[in-house]
Amino acid sequence: MLKSKILIVEDDAIESMDIKINLENMGYEVSAVISSGEEALPMISQHMPDLVLMDIILKGKMNGVEVAQKIKDEYDLPVIYLTSNSEEKTLEKAKLTEPFGYVIKPYDIVLLRYTIEIGLYKHKMEKKLESRLQYFKNVFDNAPIGIFHSTIEGKFIRVNKALSSMLGYSTQKELINEVNKLNVADKIYNSPEKRPEFISNAIKDDKWHSYKNEYIRKDGNIMIGELYFRSIRNTDGSIRYLEGFITDVTEQKELEEARMKTEMIAWDRLAEIDGIYDSSPIGLCTLDKDLRYIRINENLARINGFPAIKHIGKTPREIIPTISEKIESMAKKTLKTGRSIMGVEMEGITPSMPGVLRTWIVQSVPFKDIDGNVIGISFSVLEITEMKKAQKELFETVKKLKLSNEELQRFAYVVSHDFKEPLRMVLSFTQLLKSRYEGEFDNEADEFIGFIIEGSKRMERLLDDLLTYSRITTTEEKYSEIDLNKIIEDSIYPLKLIIEDNNVEITWDHMPTILINRTQMIHVFQNLITNAIKFRNNKTPKIHVSVKLERDQWIFGVSDNGIGIDPHYHKRIFEVFQRLHRRDEYDGTGMGLFLTKKIIEGHNGHIWVESEEGKGSTFYFTLPVENNNI
Ligand code: ADP
Repeated sequence: MLKSKILIVEDDAIESMDIKINLENMGYEVSAVISSGEEALPMISQHMPDLVLMDIILKGKMNGVEVAQKIKDEYDLPVIYLTSNSEEKTLEKAKLTEPFGYVIKPYDIVLLRYTIEIGLYKHKMEKKLESRLQYFKNVFDNAPIGIFHSTIEGKFIRVNKALSSMLGYSTQKELINEVNKLNVADKIYNSPEKRPEFISNAIKDDKWHSYKNEYIRKDGNIMIGELYFRSIRNTDGSIRYLEGFITDVTEQKELEEARMKTEMIAWDRLAEIDGIYDSSPIGLCTLDKDLRYIRINENLARINGFPAIKHIGKTPREIIPTISEKIESMAKKTLKTGRSIMGVEMEGITPSMPGVLRTWIVQSVPFKDIDGNVIGISFSVLEITEMKKAQKELFETVKKLKLSNEELQRFAYVVSHDFKEPLRMVLSFTQLLKSRYEGEFDNEADEFIGFIIEGSKRMERLLDDLLTYSRITTTEEKYSEIDLNKIIEDSIYPLKLIIEDNNVEITWDHMPTILINRTQMIHVFQNLITNAIKFRNNKTPKIHVSVKLERDQWIFGVSDNGIGIDPHYHKRIFEVFQRLHRRDEYDGTGMGLFLTKKIIEGHNGHIWVESEEGKGSTFYFTLPVENNNI
């Protein structure tokens, strides 16, 4: 063990020698013996002793008390005074320098040793305590969580850096000053009424108590803090102060709230999906790998004829035995391949309607977990029993309608064709009657003969139109790509005479080649051009056939400079036998536009007129560019 070094400051040479010898005998090392205060200080810095033995009364400028004070301040060394009883006053002064002990001269060796040992020990202890305090201060100041000590009344005693910055203050001092103007609760607690409860819990025992508390920061924002709070007691059990740790959990709380919100939204969505699932007009269910129902909606449960809950854990075999084989085979396929099977039509009987054969469209989709492993099969079932029935009925009706339509067309053909023969007979014999006997009867008889001839001719035209209609609607002619320029030429060829007689100017744009029924389309142009000539006014008739391409259709227009049509009748003229004029004004049957409309619609187009009375007319019709449905 190292010897403790002692420096002696004593102006009495004999005494100092005596002490030196005694100390060395005791096992100390005497680093120096100095006789004056002035000399002592530089020697201390040179020798750095562990303890200084100092005579209070020294010769020279500085006495022992002054020297001791300097030693304490500058070197922090323990000083033990050597004094005599007579120096009581000086001793009082010396006490102010907080010495480590006194030895009264003439000294007792044992007492001297004891005092030195105590001095050395005390100094050592003080040093340790000081470093402990420093350590504690460091920990307190630099801890990452907020720490405070406060009084029961709520005044801060000390706070650390973390707490002041957590609460938005620039220094610990500022925080303490601001809070202590009021008290902790009123200044920084968002709910000050909570503090009494914290206090009463803290003083009840020495344990930590924790609370989630809202703190008001300097900028007014709220900080959510987790507070750990306890009391620190004196040895007599009284409360010394209260200690608290605060961690900022605002972000945690926000995260928690965001998580809760997301979770709530997810639950809402789930409830929504559940609702949709249950109220879906399509039957839905999910089977696990053992083909047991794990979920089923109300609709499918109703189709099957059991409450939804009764399905869970059971197999289709137990619930719908008559169709389970088909369902299971679909399920197994989907399980094996991991692929959906779409739109399988299935017929069968379920317990909900015994004896009734029903039809469904069934679809199976693999049911996967989040890793994509197939863990079951979901089915969707759409009941189409009624639809099927309606479809069948519709099919029958269409079939019947087709038959009766064909009959009607045959009838129209027979009527128009076969009636022409007797009619022609009536007409020719009446004409014969007229040519032979005109003037032989009275005037009235001649007039009657005229009526018969006129009526028969009209009937002949009606029968001709009817024949055209039945020919057009029953034609077997195929649609083909035809140049419409050619069609227009062919249409006006038979009208050559009328055109020339009336000086008709007829022009047309260059026409496209499209998929049409030739005979029908000739009829369309012929009818529109004939009307354009027929309903002319006193001007030279000008007719133009235009064409333009608009998106996916051709738009044709046949325009004239004739009498025009009151917009009031634009729809009516396309109906059968509808005419706007008396026969003696303009001849006709009212079948032409009706037939034209039928033909255009048969080509997937439509027809309309734009016209005003006295301002000419344009009849428009469309034909699709891609005509796939004819
Ligand atoms: P019809 O020519 O035999 O009278 P349509 O069905 O062809 O029968 O025409 C119906 C009616 O539409 C005609 O009676 C006429 O009043 C009117 N109409 C048709 N085309 C024109 C036209 N270009 N200008 C004026 N009116 C017309």
